[in-house]
Amino acid sequence: MLSFDNTANAFSGKGDGDLRRSYWLFKMVSNPGLVNFGKSFTDLAINLHLPITGIIKATIFKQFCGGEDIHECLKTIESLGKYNIGSILDYSVEGMVTENDFDKTAEEIIRTLELAGKNPHIPFGVFKPTGVGRMDVMEKVSSGATLNADEQQAWDNLKRRVDSICQAAAENNVRVLVDAEETWIQVAVDALVRDMMEKYNKQKAIVYNTAQMYRRDRLTYLENLLKDARDKNYFVGMKIVRGAYMEKERARAIKMGYTSPINDTKADTDKEYNTALEFCIKHIGKIAICAGTHNEDSAMLLVKLMQQNNIAPDNTHVWFSQLLGMSDHISYNIAKEGYYVAKYVPYGPVKNVLPYLIRRAQENTSVKGQTGRELSLIIKEKQRRASQG
Ligand SMILES: Cc1cc2nc3c(=O)[nH]c(=O)nc-3n(C[C@H](O)[C@H](O)[C@H](O)COP(=O)(O)OP(=O)(O)OC[C@H]3O[C@@H](n4cnc5c(N)ncnc54)[C@H](O)[C@@H]3O)c2cc1C
Repeated sequence: MLSFDNTANAFSGKGDGDLRRSYWLFKMVSNPGLVNFGKSFTDLAINLHLPITGIIKATIFKQFCGGEDIHECLKTIESLGKYNIGSILDYSVEGMVTENDFDKTAEEIIRTLELAGKNPHIPFGVFKPTGVGRMDVMEKVSSGATLNADEQQAWDNLKRRVDSICQAAAENNVRVLVDAEETWIQVAVDALVRDMMEKYNKQKAIVYNTAQMYRRDRLTYLENLLKDARDKNYFVGMKIVRGAYMEKERARAIKMGYTSPINDTKADTDKEYNTALEFCIKHIGKIAICAGTHNEDSAMLLVKLMQQNNIAPDNTHVWFSQLLGMSDHISYNIAKEGYYVAKYVPYGPVKNVLPYLIRRAQENTSVKGQTGRELSLIIKEKQRRASQG
């Protein structure tokens, strides 16, 4: 019987030392004042070239990242693999801006796909569109404006990189997820990924777009895409998430005077997320999904929907996914029941993944002094182990 409260399963991959480190870390980040101080201190220390990368690497980096390069991630991949949990190598270097940077990132992503082709514990690759091309150009394409020659060149480069990544995924028989970012670049991304699906998803779902269900329009988007896939004979691959840019989206909508594309309430987003799962399960022959969520109700709902519709846990069209270092109580317990699970394993040089680490710390700070979900599960497991001597 599946239960997310089973901390023995949830932390089976962690020895007592790992558990102590996680406890200490989540305790520290639960203090919002300390996280803000830590962020400012880290920025300053990096600017002053103080030797703090070692401390970061042994603490917060170790919790949330697989390593500084692909090779360093192998240990994490193997230890997750022991519990039937796949790894999604996520090259998490942010702030790339030149065409040369974008080429290098695309080459790195292709290397992750080549490794995935040889390693059964790496079921997906992943990339962010802004990692392989100019955001301003995607914004302009999305708005329907005409590109100048320089922008056209940048857009062609982006399309070329995305195509070569998807081609590498197909050649290595590995699925590839395209992360979703801000709505104002998403028209361009959706069109491009649709083309990739039509090209590479003829036999099965290789290319997956991402639907952010905090958007008011994503159920309609899913319905239209399914219709297109039926008409043009390809499979839809879709990562279903709630969405990570809510504050930014709302602030921009207010500033520019348009209706926010984001649902008004969390309850609306929860409802749309769960409706999207129901929709995809209903059409599971044609749609392959990856449910990227740390929400226990949504993960449990997906399991129930599969059971109700006689979909076997090892149906390759349904994957669950969480981030490394978070929600192990979902990942490990679901994997133990035979469902397909994969963790995002972010990696990159410590200095370059700092923005990612700071976001993880911020999302685990305590709300009004409450103990967060991660911390309370760790405490429960520590107590369980102590009571067993
Ligand atoms: C494997 C994986 C891949 C991901 N990939 C992406 C990606 O490509 N793009 C992306 O944007 N995000 C991505 N995310 C992040 C995701 O969108 C969520 O921000 C995050 O997972 C928290 O949502 P949740 O479903 O885990 O659960 P919860 O914690 O239950 O939900 C929190 C989410 O609900 C929504 N929400 C909160 N308050 C409100 C409100 N007042 N009104 C409306 N909505 C509200 C927001 O989306 C918020 O992030 C990914 C997450 C995972 C685990």
